[in-house]
Amino acid sequence: KPQPAVADRQKQAPEPPLPRQNAKVTPPSPPKVIADKTRTLEFVRVGMLGEGGFARVYEVQDRRGGRCACKVVTKQSLKTKKAKTKLYAEIKIHRSLEHPNIVTFQDCFEDDENVYMTLELCHNGSLMDLLRRRRRFTEPESRFFMVQLIGACHYMHNHQVIHRDLKLGNIFLDSNMNVKVGDFGLAALIENPGERKKTICGTPNYIAPEVLFDTANGHSFEVDTWSIGVILYTLVVGRPPFQTKDVKAIYKRIRDNEYEFPKDRLVSLEVQELVQQILTPDPQQRPTLHEIIDHAWFTRGVVPDRIPATAHDSTPSFS
Ligand code: ADP
Repeated sequence: KPQPAVADRQKQAPEPPLPRQNAKVTPPSPPKVIADKTRTLEFVRVGMLGEGGFARVYEVQDRRGGRCACKVVTKQSLKTKKAKTKLYAEIKIHRSLEHPNIVTFQDCFEDDENVYMTLELCHNGSLMDLLRRRRRFTEPESRFFMVQLIGACHYMHNHQVIHRDLKLGNIFLDSNMNVKVGDFGLAALIENPGERKKTICGTPNYIAPEVLFDTANGHSFEVDTWSIGVILYTLVVGRPPFQTKDVKAIYKRIRDNEYEFPKDRLVSLEVQELVQQILTPDPQQRPTLHEIIDHAWFTRGVVPDRIPATAHDSTPSFS
């Protein structure tokens, strides 16, 4: 079950927040031909790719036949100052990033009804869609995805950006099965060194314990490292480590660092050890991205150069 992201500013930090229910807003229904006011940019809608909080994402074609993804947000949903600030922050952060494993932000424009963002098209959907079809990934495939994800994350952190919502549903795959991190809707820019963030946000299964339980101190880059640990576990096991029936129970398991590896499936001891190191409750004790990539699971295991397209529906073999 996909979980909606939560974003809620807490003043006295009582109970951790439950996922936000979006107020009823009419979803965008953009015209067949999407253009800016001067018609410098013009796209034809060719299909729908997905739907998020307030946005709909379409596949569109430009005048020269090039395809991209177009994220559409209605102006109606941007009536509050908070909603506007959030969208501007997403745009500002996303357009500042340029990396082979981050969805490229192309343009941003508007018409009377909507705001449009054109993005690099990821033909193969998200890792969440792929995991549903495959149930779980082999360790070589998981290494391939993790190396690219960690590279993208290292780049973001070097550019003072915390993603804060890394999860399988926000990791897209291009036509060559390369990782493209997307959805900067909850990302934060660290403008002063040592600055701590206090907004409680993330997606329940992937949320770091300090976000929920150390609200006085706030959180920083290490929350992405935690999510990377959750993602690694999920890739090799097939379900997230703290998954359980309701959000409160998930938070309790996160607080108690309560998860286990299945006994009936072969998950290498190296990957178990690495996950255990990453899921260290104290963010200061958590390994750095460099330490993660230097772990024996990466250095002594097979890392394929590419993932064949057949991996879409069946387990590829790497020898
Ligand atoms: P939100 O921020 O509202 O959650 P997302 O950016 O996650 O919206 O996009 C919602 C859905 O649209 C995604 O789950 C995915 O299915 C699709 N999508 C988003 N960006 C792309 C892209 N660049 N290429 C292909 N599909 C995309």
